[in-house]
Amino acid sequence: MAEREDVPHVRVAVVGSGFGGLGAAVRLRREGLTDFVVLERADGVGGTWRDNTYPGCACDVPSHLYSFSFAPNPDWPRTFSGQEHIRAYLEHVADVFRLRPHIRTNSEVKRMTWDTGKLHWAIETSSGALTADVVVSATGPLSEPRIPEIPGLDGFPGKVFHSARWDHDYDLRGKRVAMVGTGASAIQIVPAIQRDVAKLVLFQRTPPWVMPRVDRAISGLERRLHRALPFTTQLRRGLLWGIRELQVQAFTKHPNELGFVEQLARRNMARAIKDPALRAKLTPDYRIGCKRILLSSEYYPALARPNVDVVAGGLVEVRGSTVVAADGTEAEVDAIVFGTGFHVTDMPIADRVVGADGRTLAETWRGGMKALRGATASGFPNWMTIIGPNTGLGNSSMILMIESQLNYMADFLRQLDVLGGRVALDARQGAVDDWNHEVQERMRHTVWNTGGCTSWYLDANGRNTTIWPGTTTEFRNATRRVDLGEYQVLRAPTARGTEAAEAQTQAAENTAAAENTAAASVAGENTLTARARA
Ligand SMILES: Cc1cc2nc3c(=O)[nH]c(=O)nc-3n(C[C@H](O)[C@H](O)[C@H](O)COP(=O)(O)OP(=O)(O)OC[C@H]3O[C@@H](n4cnc5c(N)ncnc54)[C@H](O)[C@@H]3O)c2cc1C
Repeated sequence: MAEREDVPHVRVAVVGSGFGGLGAAVRLRREGLTDFVVLERADGVGGTWRDNTYPGCACDVPSHLYSFSFAPNPDWPRTFSGQEHIRAYLEHVADVFRLRPHIRTNSEVKRMTWDTGKLHWAIETSSGALTADVVVSATGPLSEPRIPEIPGLDGFPGKVFHSARWDHDYDLRGKRVAMVGTGASAIQIVPAIQRDVAKLVLFQRTPPWVMPRVDRAISGLERRLHRALPFTTQLRRGLLWGIRELQVQAFTKHPNELGFVEQLARRNMARAIKDPALRAKLTPDYRIGCKRILLSSEYYPALARPNVDVVAGGLVEVRGSTVVAADGTEAEVDAIVFGTGFHVTDMPIADRVVGADGRTLAETWRGGMKALRGATASGFPNWMTIIGPNTGLGNSSMILMIESQLNYMADFLRQLDVLGGRVALDARQGAVDDWNHEVQERMRHTVWNTGGCTSWYLDANGRNTTIWPGTTTEFRNATRRVDLGEYQVLRAPTARGTEAAEAQTQAAENTAAAENTAAASVAGENTLTARARA
């Protein structure tokens, strides 16, 4: 780390140490770059899998697919790993790839401001200031818990917490508990606590579709095989990936074909829920897949137990220790647990990023998040995000998308090196618009937009800014290389003056764009842009 005007300077500042941030750090080292830091607000690595410690927390993508391709783990204990195993895996990645010296914990990024004159980011953190040529923001799509504003909640005399901030000091045994929400976290929490609590009141705004979860311990024999013959781990991963890749068409192009999957989900419910009134409450009225399909073989059996009440309505008010639902149902409880998700379409870090024109990314994105290839935004040079807009998946492992974005990051840095000198790349507004137009066109026929539900994939304007409307292979191809034609090349003013710098910039840009376009067409890549421009 070099000192520049008393403030340390790095080539790259990575923000966040979940799968995205740690993956970026490994990739930077592999690219031969060691002048970088990983800034993490918490006191340890792991992101999602450090923060979510609620009872029953586990992944709903099989372990061999929900891990880095470059760090296979032959020793996953179960087909679907629990939180503690995934967290241990990420700690292991940090050790094995020697990332610890780069990681600065307890360093919350408060503000990042682009300095147009110096062509770098000035970063303020809770542990001091620094500057960086490039920022890779991996602050996570689901890292900022969302608790709805409920009238009277402040006056509730009992315990209140969010699923992602579980209070392990509070003993739920024998308590009357209100669980608010029926999303991915809630359906794991309900069966995990139902036996212990005196009463569980579940507030359900919209019922989810729930498929059985085929979870089992991975046998010693399988693990020995994976250890002795590493290609078998890859084979297993490839199979898991291929199955999900084949499913994508149904989600993106033929949602009507999903009726068959609904039958399987209905049967999963009917096996456990014998009461027709309860079954009616729990049956969704939208196409399966419109909201994330949840996996559980324990959720419905838990709901059928006598100490559980399902209220078909959201929590709308709290009066003392009484919780009130939209349908008027009231219950007295000792604790309220919110499984109400995260700030997703209003990416919280965007408020803290100030671009070239002095506006924050949040202001720029007021009408909805928009990035080029899910990574960069116009007016925010040398800044990119991992799991940015429209990079989420409805049915597969986010690690696949993260790794594609790391390819893009690596090429971005290579292009800066090739251009040479003090240089920055700023996404052209036209390229950002073309990309997003194409993404939204493809989105029109997907189950997420046509399935008849409201989900956290949609922003305040009803635009789906969260999900990638294609296969992971398409995204990989679209992010393999940076197309310099989509960027403006910025250089710091030289002694010859600004005009000279601009001329130089234009020349460099034209040459680089021409080279890049030729390279891209030879490789036959970046198909999405090619189509958007055709
Ligand atoms: C309960 C739960 C279950 C999930 N299950 C699945 C699943 O089954 N399959 C799947 O594909 N995905 C799943 N996900 C999505 C999951 O978030 C992603 O798969 C992945 O872990 C995201 O990694 P990330 O590094 O991008 O973000 P995160 O893991 O959220 O890491 C972001 C990091 O950035 C840090 N940070 C944030 N803001 C700042 C700041 N201002 N300054 C410094 N540091 C900051 C955070 O502290 C955190 O450590 C799940 C998410 C949750 C919450």
